[in-house]
Amino acid sequence: MILRIIALLAVVTLAACEAPVVVTAPPAGGPSAVVQSGASEPQSVASFQQIVRRMEPVVERECRIRAPRLNCDFAIQIFENPRLPPNAFQTLDDGGRPVLGFTATLIEDVRNADELAFVLGHEAAHHIAGHLSRQAENATLGAAIFGALAAQTGATADGVASAQELGAAVGARSYSKDFELEADRLGTVLTQLSGYDPLVGAAYFNRIPDPGNRFLGTHPPNAQRIAVVQETAAQF
Ligand SMILES: [Zn+2]
Repeated sequence: MILRIIALLAVVTLAACEAPVVVTAPPAGGPSAVVQSGASEPQSVASFQQIVRRMEPVVERECRIRAPRLNCDFAIQIFENPRLPPNAFQTLDDGGRPVLGFTATLIEDVRNADELAFVLGHEAAHHIAGHLSRQAENATLGAAIFGALAAQTGATADGVASAQELGAAVGARSYSKDFELEADRLGTVLTQLSGYDPLVGAAYFNRIPDPGNRFLGTHPPNAQRIAVVQETAAQF
């Protein structure tokens, strides 16, 4: 049972995300990006590809410096299905290559290049900080603890199994707010190193629904995230 839970969690990504239908990888190479800053400029797949060309070498270099044992060859993918909600996520493909995924609706939803750059920096930071494997460790631990407690109180096999499932979910979420703030911190640095403005970029949080401080919520309140970005950018 624990193994089944772990297998399930291995495919869970750090942000809730629906299954992609069409995947288009941006072409490599091409002219360097023109950085647009601050203003409200609708973003397109073409402008996203400019941001990717500018940020990818920076992010991969920082990954190799900060996490030399990790695969730092990012695959950056756009999920074109217009029915997918605005979202971005980080995961690993079957070969262990880090994938940063963006829905086309997210690209349309942001107001300028800095916001898009900040989201890319944030997702890349999740990989560099090793959040997926740290989350899986917490899930395994949670499943073991909840399962053992249920067994001690005389639960049936089914009762133990559902306790393990609950434990895995609680474990996986127990550090997720910290992970989000950590990714905002490193994402701020990656955005800045790539020549974009993380303070302008983080304004995106002001327009997405604030998760507040719900018990077991996976994301910290938006105001807390903006404060972390401001603090990090000030130190840079
Ligand atoms: Zn995140």
